[in-house]
This record gives sequence, structure tokens and C-alpha cells, in this order.
Amino acid sequence: MTQSDIVFRMAKFIANRNDYFKDVRRGFPAPVSQMLCNPGLLTAWSRIEGDPYPISHGYVDFVDGAERIELGHTRGWSALQYICRLNLIKRGLSLRDFFCGKYNGYTGYVRQVQSNRVFCKRNDRCQCEACDWVKAAQRHFGVGPDTVLSGFLR
Ligand SMILES: [Zn+2]
Repeated sequence: MTQSDIVFRMAKFIANRNDYFKDVRRGFPAPVSQMLCNPGLLTAWSRIEGDPYPISHGYVDFVDGAERIELGHTRGWSALQYICRLNLIKRGLSLRDFFCGKYNGYTGYVRQVQSNRVFCKRNDRCQCEACDWVKAAQRHFGVGPDTVLSGFLR
């Protein structure tokens, strides 16, 4: 796999699990990830110029100020891909570390981070939300929880 393969596959996996690609029937509300152009359901993000995007329903609203919805989607995707690139490629985190967090600086992809730090047992028996993501990612990528995806780089 190339760097882009890893980054894109993880971003797609996350977006899919956040209902970003979900087909919604007419008259039914769109998932928050679609509505806010936020496939990663990120809870904080800043523009290149430094000022943060507004928060709506607890998540970053990438639509803010965009004349066209496409711009919102572009912003949301690049933010999610940035996170995947930083943590999977540059930091070389395993699936477990990516979702559950690792050292002080990185609290993990999954939200409710504070409580998660206390409760996550970091093993297969753990029932926390972060570990649910780890298990789903294991099935998706066909690898173990401690696998470092950047180890597959060629
Ligand atoms: Zn856990």
C-alpha cells in the first residue's frame, strides 16, 4: 500500500461508520456527518488562517461560510485525511493507539476522550466506544489491534 492508500482507506472507513455515505430517504433527516460536511465527526478544527470553525450539534461545521456545499465537503475530507496521515503515517500508530489514544499528546480518534482514558482497558474485552472502533477496523483491514498500518508501506 502507498501512503495515500492507507490514509484514504482509513478515512473512508471512518466516514462510512459515521453514516457519511448513508442514503437517506426523502423527508428523513440527514446524518450529522453529511449535514456538517464532517465525515470524521471531528469536534474541533481551525482554518489555515487560525480561527476555528463553529461547532454545531457538538461537531465542527465545515459548511460555515462556504458559498457552495462542495467546499464544505472538501474541507471536511482534508481535515479527516490530515488526521489519518499524521497519526497513521507520521506517528506510525497502531489501530489501538489510533482510536484509543497513546501518549499524553494524542488522546485518540474517538470522542469522550476524558472518560475513555479512565475506562479503556486497551484489550479485546474492553467494551468502550474506542475499542468498538478498533474491533471494526480490525475486521475492515483484516489485521490485529496492534498492527501498524504504515508497516505495510512499500
Ligand atoms: Zn477500550
